[in-house]
Amino acid sequence: MKVYKFGGASVKDAEGVRNVERIVRLALNDQMANDQMVNGLMVVVSAMGKTTNALERVVAFLDAGKEEEALAQWVDIIDFHVAIMKSLGLQPGSDIRLQGEIPYDPKRSYDENYDQIVSLGEIMSTQIVAVYLLKQGLSVEWWNMPKLLRTDDTWREAKVDSAVSSAVIRAGWDRPRRPQIVVAQGFIGGTADGRRTTLGREGSDYTAALLGNYLDAESVTIWKDVPGILNADPRIEPNTVLIPSLRYMDAVELANSGAQVMHPKTIRPLENKHVPLLVKPFGDPTAEGSRIADDGVGPIGVPVYIWRKNQILITMRAKDFAFVLEESLSEIFDIIHRHRLKVSLIQSSAVTISVCVDNTRFVSEAIQELRTHFNVTYNENLSLLTIRGTTPEILEQAKAGKTIMLSQTTRRTARLVVVEQK
Ligand code: ASP
Ligand code: MG
Repeated sequence: MKVYKFGGASVKDAEGVRNVERIVRLALNDQMANDQMVNGLMVVVSAMGKTTNALERVVAFLDAGKEEEALAQWVDIIDFHVAIMKSLGLQPGSDIRLQGEIPYDPKRSYDENYDQIVSLGEIMSTQIVAVYLLKQGLSVEWWNMPKLLRTDDTWREAKVDSAVSSAVIRAGWDRPRRPQIVVAQGFIGGTADGRRTTLGREGSDYTAALLGNYLDAESVTIWKDVPGILNADPRIEPNTVLIPSLRYMDAVELANSGAQVMHPKTIRPLENKHVPLLVKPFGDPTAEGSRIADDGVGPIGVPVYIWRKNQILITMRAKDFAFVLEESLSEIFDIIHRHRLKVSLIQSSAVTISVCVDNTRFVSEAIQELRTHFNVTYNENLSLLTIRGTTPEILEQAKAGKTIMLSQTTRRTARLVVVEQK
C-alpha cells in the first residue's frame, strides 16, 4: 500500500480536489498494471488553503470576547467550503453536514478550545474529498482520526500513543472488503476520552509518516506545489535546483533547519521502517520529484539555503560572574524545555550562553523565569540562515549586505543569525 499526503495548497479549490482524483486514479491504475492485488491507498489531507489560519483567528476572537468577529470569520470559512462543494457538484446539507455551531467552551483552556475548533479544517476537507471521490465512482472510506490516532492531551502539540494507534489503525486497514481508498485527516488525533487534539502546525506530514510506519507502506508521497525538494526557497532565490535523492539524515537536517518542505517529525517513523519518502509536484504527477531513502545519495552536491524566520536570540550571563557552564546549561535547558521553546542554535563563551529560538508565544514567560537566575538580554526580528555544502566564497556572498548577529561555521555548514530587513 501507499500513503499519499495532500497539503492545504493542493486542495485550496475545486480544481485541486479534481486533481486529487486524477492523481489517485493514476496510483490505482499503477497498482493494477503491476498486477498487484489492488492493495490500497491511504490519502491524508490537510485543511483547504489557509483554513487553519482562519480557524486560529476564530479562536483568538472568541478568547478576546469578540463574538461578532468570530462569527463573521466562521461564516467566511463555511462559505468557502460550501463554494468548493457546489463547484464539485456536492450538496451541502445532504452530501455533507457541516458543523453548525462553533465548539467553543469558555470553561476550557485556550489551547483546548483551539484543538476542538482548529481540527475542523481537516474534518471538512476530508469529508469533501471523500464524498467527491465516492461520487466519481471510486471505492472510498472516510476515517475519523480523532477516534483512531490516540494522543495525550498536550493541546496543540499532542503526543501520539503509537502502541494504541498502530493497533487500531492496522485493524482498520487489514479488514476484508475494505474500500480501496481511505481518506484520513492529517494533523489531528484524539484523547482516550474522545476530545480532538492537534499535533502542531504543519503536522499532516507527520501523520502521513506515522501511517506509513504503522501500515508498512511501500512509500509515502507528499504532493506539493514545488517540483520536489529544492536547494533554496523559490520565493526568495530565483535560481533553485531540484535535489533528486537524499538520505534520511540529510532530510532531518533540512527539516530541522527550517526548510518548509516537510515537518521535522516526518522522517523518523519512516526511517525506522525503511519506508521511502517521495516529494512530488501535484501539478505534474508523473515527474520524478525527490526521493528520501536508505540508499539516498549524499552529500547533496549543491549548496542548500534554508531560512528559519521569526527567531529571537537570548543571551544569559551569570549574575555573580561565577559562570559554571555545566551547571548553568542544565538549568537553562530545563527552563527552555518546560516552556516548550524550540532551540535552533546554541553558542557559549566563558561567561555567556546564547540560544536562538523560534519566537513563539511561550518566549516571554521563559525569559521571565531565566531572569530569576541570570542577566538576560535578547534580540528579536532575526532569521537563521543555514547553508549546507558551503564554501568560503559562498559564505562571503551570502553575508554581503546582511547584518549578522552571530555566525557558526564548520567545514561544510554555515549558520548565520541575520537581522530581518524591514
Ligand atoms: N492544516 C494544518 C496546518 O496548516 C496542518 C498541515 O497543513 O499540515 O498547520
Ligand atoms: Mg496546512
